[in-house]
Amino acid sequence: MSQPKYKRILLKLSGEVLMGSQKFGIDPEFVAELAQEVKTAKETGLEICLVIGGGNIFRGMAGAAKGMDRTQADYMGMLATVMNALAMQNALEQLGVPTRVQSAIEMDKVCEPVIRRRAERHLEKGRVVIFAAGVGAPYFTTDSGAALRAAEMQCDALLKGTSVDGVYDSDPKTNPSAKRYDTVDYDTVLADNLKVMDASAVALCRDNNIPIVVFSIREQGNLAKVLAGEGTRTIVKKG
Ligand code: UDP
Repeated sequence: MSQPKYKRILLKLSGEVLMGSQKFGIDPEFVAELAQEVKTAKETGLEICLVIGGGNIFRGMAGAAKGMDRTQADYMGMLATVMNALAMQNALEQLGVPTRVQSAIEMDKVCEPVIRRRAERHLEKGRVVIFAAGVGAPYFTTDSGAALRAAEMQCDALLKGTSVDGVYDSDPKTNPSAKRYDTVDYDTVLADNLKVMDASAVALCRDNNIPIVVFSIREQGNLAKVLAGEGTRTIVKKG
């Protein structure tokens, strides 16, 4: 499996992976394991931008489905991503990895605002930059936030670490004969409504030619394998 060597990546982790085996919230032991994966990847010389979702704490859509105002619920979701970013910052720094959190919703007591040039400088200095609060606007998700930061920071690829090991032609949980793609093009993902990321995130990656690598982050050592062009994953790219 030949794969170009990446210099700078954006790693997007779904909030739910921070739960470990819990049903809700943050499992610090599992976050420490995730941080170790990030550290190992960084030690290969990669520059790493991180975006973490908030689904382990709060999703705007879930609040709206129960009668909340969608915008209000989405802001709560964005705040949840800041908590996750701080948890990951703590775990990385306990492993000796320098980090900075930049939030799209300014919160100057706990982190920096998003400033691209500053983020560049952090990467140059070997820091992991964790982008929190998505794009800072309701009706978006952290997938869109990840695509936006990947474009802005000129990342070579967007790696989506989630609970599934790639993109399937149908839901593998309900269809045992679902087929996993090795590679698939952006337009097929959009036309067939394949569950990778939301459409705006996929379109942004397509328009900026950023490959999306979907893999399971729950499996120990998998991030390093995927970065080495091994391991189970799906690459979404130009057809
Ligand atoms: N959110 C938002 N705008 C953004 C990013 C996130 O409104 O730019 C809100 C939205 O309510 C979302 C929640 O934050 O449901 C948590 O993010 P997401 O669902 O993307 O987390 P994940 O599924 O990756 O854990």
